[in-house]
Amino acid sequence: MDRIRSGSKGALMILCSNPLAQYNAHKAEIDKAIQRVLNKGWYILGEETEAFESEFAEYVGVSHGIGVGSGTEALHIALAACGIGPGDEAVTVSHTAVATVAAIELTGARPVFVDIEPDYYTLDPHKLEEAITPNTKAIITVHLYGQSADMLPILDIAKKHGLRVIEDCAQAHGAMYRGRRVGSWGDMACFSFYPTKNLGALGDGGMVVTCNPELAEKARLLREYGWTERYISKIPGWNTRLDELQAAILRVKLRYLDADNDARANLASKYDHALEGLGFVTPKRGQESTHVYHLYVIRSTKRDEMQAFLEARGVGALIHYPVPVHLQPAYRDKVRRSDKLLETEKAACEVLSLPIYPELPEEDLQTVVKIAQYYGEERT
Ligand SMILES: *Cc1c(COP(=O)(O)O)cnc(C)c1O
Repeated sequence: MDRIRSGSKGALMILCSNPLAQYNAHKAEIDKAIQRVLNKGWYILGEETEAFESEFAEYVGVSHGIGVGSGTEALHIALAACGIGPGDEAVTVSHTAVATVAAIELTGARPVFVDIEPDYYTLDPHKLEEAITPNTKAIITVHLYGQSADMLPILDIAKKHGLRVIEDCAQAHGAMYRGRRVGSWGDMACFSFYPTKNLGALGDGGMVVTCNPELAEKARLLREYGWTERYISKIPGWNTRLDELQAAILRVKLRYLDADNDARANLASKYDHALEGLGFVTPKRGQESTHVYHLYVIRSTKRDEMQAFLEARGVGALIHYPVPVHLQPAYRDKVRRSDKLLETEKAACEVLSLPIYPELPEEDLQTVVKIAQYYGEERT
């Protein structure tokens, strides 16, 4: 969710993420796909959406894909398809995009937070069981920054208590856990195609994926008024659809997703080497996981000074996320936390995302590195 803002001292020269660079990299193919849709005269839920749903489901390694209007809506639909509603609790993390929690709110259920593992920024399975009450119906695991949560222990606990598991994969398109892609582990999984994501549309978009045919059918109904046939609602539903233009654009970009993720990993390893020994904490990779570096997040106790320092020199380094959801005005009186969320609150004070996107020029990376190195040597 990187809405780019320009620095107070002038325009940023090096952006944290850059959807325009990605459009330019595949401009001819994308323009052709757009023209194809425009000339067909069918603009919402058609052949392009259906083709993209099956291509993306196949990529993830699941049997059903349901295209929707955004990642937030994907989570809302998945929770509702699993029967989560008023009176229920859904356990997740507070160190996430507010969208994860907004989706729980949309169902009328109550969000409950557990702490994160400080090395990986994902749900700490050791803290999970104490959060579960008789009202708990689901767990949403967030694969934050591009790396999977530790799914096996989470799935074990869910099974023991009869809970649904929904994966929030909005930052981890293509990431693997134990040799299988994220999105193929839970009962359902949700993706966002917001323009800055690893697979980004040129507008809003999202998808729910699952291997469970009944849940897939329910999600499909919910996305369009509960229609089984046109104008006949079987169940009450909503309207949250993926449009044909975005689907056609995403079909082009899906073909480059693995190469783009490799490019991100390559940039990340350059950062890793260049920042070694300077007092920053660089991203750790889980033994069971591959990392697709949606964000390259370092930690420093002098984070705020460093961000200002970078911004003054034209580098857009962002904070994901500055205030944990349980401390935000909209949520702080509504949510329940099962532990003190100490690691969550500590991370919020220390994390900083350095620019990373597949087309980031080498010289820009070197510029960021030089500033960071100077800062590391001078001030830590
Ligand atoms: C981006 C994001 C979402 C929401 O996606 P939208 O398409 O912007 O609604 C949900 N969860 C996480 C972790 C995200 O990063």
